[in-house]
Amino acid sequence: MSFKALINLILENNPNIQEIRNSRHKPLDLLILLILNQSTSDDLADLAFKKLKLDYPDYKTILAENNPEKLTESIKICGLSKSKSVYILNTLNYLEKQNWLDLNLNFINDLSDAEALEALTQIKGIGIKSASCLLMFSFKRGTFPIDTHLFRIFKRLGNIIPTGIDLVKAHKFLQPQIQGKLAFQVHVALIELGRKVCLGKTNPKCSICYLNSICQKNFN
Ligand code: SF4
Repeated sequence: MSFKALINLILENNPNIQEIRNSRHKPLDLLILLILNQSTSDDLADLAFKKLKLDYPDYKTILAENNPEKLTESIKICGLSKSKSVYILNTLNYLEKQNWLDLNLNFINDLSDAEALEALTQIKGIGIKSASCLLMFSFKRGTFPIDTHLFRIFKRLGNIIPTGIDLVKAHKFLQPQIQGKLAFQVHVALIELGRKVCLGKTNPKCSICYLNSICQKNFN
């Protein structure tokens, strides 16, 4: 099945997905939350983010203190906190050096999707998935983030992405094939499928999956 046909099947089975973008967080807050969310659950990332906001009055203070140990302690609940504290400091340093350190990340409004992805992924700790999510949810761009759920589903389906490619190449392969609101709808629908049906850690529930008839079930 082609990716286009898959998109149509997903939309047929998910007719009610609303285009609700993230208005809960300012763009820079969302970027930091995306770093905290790497390799952990949304709940733990949220807790770490709340603690960070309690411990620091603003991001300039984190930069001024430049204390990775304190930052690591502050966000420790979400795991990998040592690496994540370095990524947060890298991100804030990079944005400040470019004079881009404002909560709204206004510089992104002057960039195309490709330019914004290029700028954001220069920062050590911001991968293509986090950059795509930020652009999709905070800037209503047509980027198509592929997280672990989507990547797993595409690999199991077969014929959607070339065999053996990594996450970064999968983004580059699929992004030109989907844009705008469609990217948002398909992303949200597949996250839902990955969380409830095409499970990663336990057996997928193929018998109740709307993609069952077209899925090659590549589980390796
Ligand atoms: S049929 Fe099974 S393996 Fe294929 S997408 Fe659905 S749940 Fe995943």
